[in-house]
Amino acid sequence: MRNYYQKEAETMPLEQLRRLQSEKLKAQVKHVYENVPYYKNLMDEKGVKPEDINCVEDLYKLPFISKADLRETYPYGMLAVPLSECVRIQSTSGTTGKRVIAYYTQKDVDLWEDCCARAIVAAGGTKDDVVHVSYGYGLFTGGAGLHGGSHKLGSLTLPMSSGNTERQIQFMMDLKSTILCCTPSYAAYLGESLKERGYKPTDNHLKAGIFGAEPWTEEMRKDIESSLGIKAYDIYGLTETSGPGVAFECEEQNGMHVNEDHFLAEIIDPDTGEVLPEGEKGELVFTSLDKEAFPLIRYRTRDICVLSRKKCSCGRTFVKMSKPMGRSDDMMIIKGVNVFPSQIETVLLNEGYTPNYKIEVDRVNNSDTLDIYVELSAEQFSDTVSGFNAKEKSLASAIKTMLGIQPVVHLVPPKTIERSEGKAVRVIDKRKLV
Ligand code: ADP
Ligand code: ZN
Repeated sequence: MRNYYQKEAETMPLEQLRRLQSEKLKAQVKHVYENVPYYKNLMDEKGVKPEDINCVEDLYKLPFISKADLRETYPYGMLAVPLSECVRIQSTSGTTGKRVIAYYTQKDVDLWEDCCARAIVAAGGTKDDVVHVSYGYGLFTGGAGLHGGSHKLGSLTLPMSSGNTERQIQFMMDLKSTILCCTPSYAAYLGESLKERGYKPTDNHLKAGIFGAEPWTEEMRKDIESSLGIKAYDIYGLTETSGPGVAFECEEQNGMHVNEDHFLAEIIDPDTGEVLPEGEKGELVFTSLDKEAFPLIRYRTRDICVLSRKKCSCGRTFVKMSKPMGRSDDMMIIKGVNVFPSQIETVLLNEGYTPNYKIEVDRVNNSDTLDIYVELSAEQFSDTVSGFNAKEKSLASAIKTMLGIQPVVHLVPPKTIERSEGKAVRVIDKRKLV
């Protein structure tokens, strides 16, 4: 028997889903127009009135908003209900600049937690599971979201938060955690730490992990699955749209179903703003359909991915988004070539290296340089007493084949690259580009 948290919604026939979305969109647009002067101005400037929006096909008529709008209206300029109706504030991690805050009514929190519960169930979770939440708690949405979802499902929730790896491992073993929720970089670190303490992948009770909040590759998935002895599922979200749970992976593990009864997803050309057809790669844009306090209309995420409506064997009808390969602002232009850190990660793991690496970009004599520091595992280190140079060259050439530009690879001893408990920072760009 297949499991869903909210079967009717998750398996709704497309036609019915479209009708539901259209109705909700009409109401949402009216809500923002009447209650958020900032949105009203944007719509007035574009000459669009709430009456012009009658179905999802009318979405393109609406103006986009971006992080810049949210920063401009900080803190309460996007509030669409009286503040006394709000019960929670969360904030972005500030990975790419000043933090943005989001506010929630009780209904907003409930819907968000439902989305996270759907993700846990899709990863095989039930009320009998022990859900070990090692996302950060606090303003960051990771901890709160998965915690709430686990409660909704009635699972036993361990609010570990991030950090204190010793205690994470002790509780994971003593309390027999079955589902681990954290960033993929922290999952990889936990796998490594368990191994160092002499545990085999079969020694823990984990069966699945729900990892997100940062880009990670298929190679990283394989690495985590084998080091922890689990199935690793992706989950996506951003504070602006509630938090994690906007989209989640099912047993197929090839793309995340977008919770389309609550969010409309579009892919646009990031340069022209033109809506692209299904299957084309571009910037992901979300419109919230139910959010009361902090609704979003055509919010540009800057995340680059592809949407697909190919039928999924899990029975869910929601559109699937591919793993975002990184944000448009993670993309580096090095010697005129577009480079995503995820491409480098793919090569490293394929070549048998650890997912512990750092990328340094600089400009020397008007020419870009790319240095990649890659940590060796303890075994690799002791095996590589000689031949360092040859190994560095061979890895550099594999990376060159992927990127088309020549990096300098530095193999470094075990434990010399800092581990991350939350979102990993992997790129240092020293170029002073304006
Ligand atoms: P910040 O923008 O400060 O990092 P958030 O903590 O809200 O704020 O992070 C949201 C962003 O994290 C997304 O826009 C996306 O770039 C990234 N992200 C979240 N989940 C994933 C995922 N599963 N894969 C790739 N990137 C992700
Ligand atoms: Zn599916």
